Amino acid sequence: MKRFRLNLNLTSVIVILAVGVLVPVMLSTAAGIVAIALSKDTGGVIIGALIISFTATAAGCGLLALVFTGRKARLARQQADFIANISHELRTPLSAIKLYAQTLHSGKLADDPAQTAQCVATILRETAWLDVMIDRLLTWRATSKDMLELSMKTQPVAAAVQGAIDRFNSMVSPDELTLSVAMDSQLGVRHDAQALNAVVLNLLMNAYKYTGTQKEIGVRVRDEDHRVIIDVEDNGIGLSTADAQRIFQPFYRAARNGKEETGGIGLGLAIAWSLIEQHNGTIAVSSRPGEGSTFTINLPVTEQTP
Ligand code: ADP
Repeated sequence: MKRFRLNLNLTSVIVILAVGVLVPVMLSTAAGIVAIALSKDTGGVIIGALIISFTATAAGCGLLALVFTGRKARLARQQADFIANISHELRTPLSAIKLYAQTLHSGKLADDPAQTAQCVATILRETAWLDVMIDRLLTWRATSKDMLELSMKTQPVAAAVQGAIDRFNSMVSPDELTLSVAMDSQLGVRHDAQALNAVVLNLLMNAYKYTGTQKEIGVRVRDEDHRVIIDVEDNGIGLSTADAQRIFQPFYRAARNGKEETGGIGLGLAIAWSLIEQHNGTIAVSSRPGEGSTFTINLPVTEQTP
């Protein structure tokens, strides 16, 4: 309700500005042109020219005001969506944790060790999703305020990638997907292992979220000339060319055409972009709707000084 009122107010401001500026501007321009056309001396031409230049200034100011108001409306909408998405994202694992904890607490599973173990495993998995989500919010805050301090070290990236795979495995149930890993990289890359771990984990979580029930995810790490390439591939819903160009922007989420909404806040890839940029690398996606996606991180190898 609050959100509706906010947008309505901003829309009316935009309409008032458009009408209030556009109509006087058109009338004054017409008056200026008529004054010039009918003038028989230089005085009339000067007055006409003054009217037109005054009108042009008013139009410019009106346009600026419109741009600022439009931006404010967009920010307000983004903020409302963000709060709704983050609440959903935190509440979903919390609800599952509560449900399984209540089941354990009720004692109904006291005589069933297998079910008890499954309950505990689910609680741990959901806690891991919550943990990653809160980490992501803190990283975003630090990144957007230029406060993120990276701890760079030159070493192969295999450990950071494997760390992400291990974390990912603790967040999903093994029978939910097929995960293939091909790790073939020895070259040294100057990187912050924790940051790279977070980026790869985000790609793995997305590959999981945006894929149907037969999930096939692949991670490949290889050396190529003076670069190290990390691919995360899935057989999921894929992306249109337009979406693929925008998903690295903060808060951007591709529309799902009425399909079931997947949790998310649209920050993971924006953080990934910023972190990889700070490693002098690039991150890109190759994808087609319905044909899966491959995200590729490309990092420069640090030359070893003899
Ligand atoms: P989130 O997943 O929290 O929304 P991200 O920044 O990680 O935020 O991703 C932005 C958007 O990019 C997602 O909302 C989704 O629309 C799209 N996306 C990301 N990864 C994939 C993928 N593997 N397959 C299809 N779409 C994806």
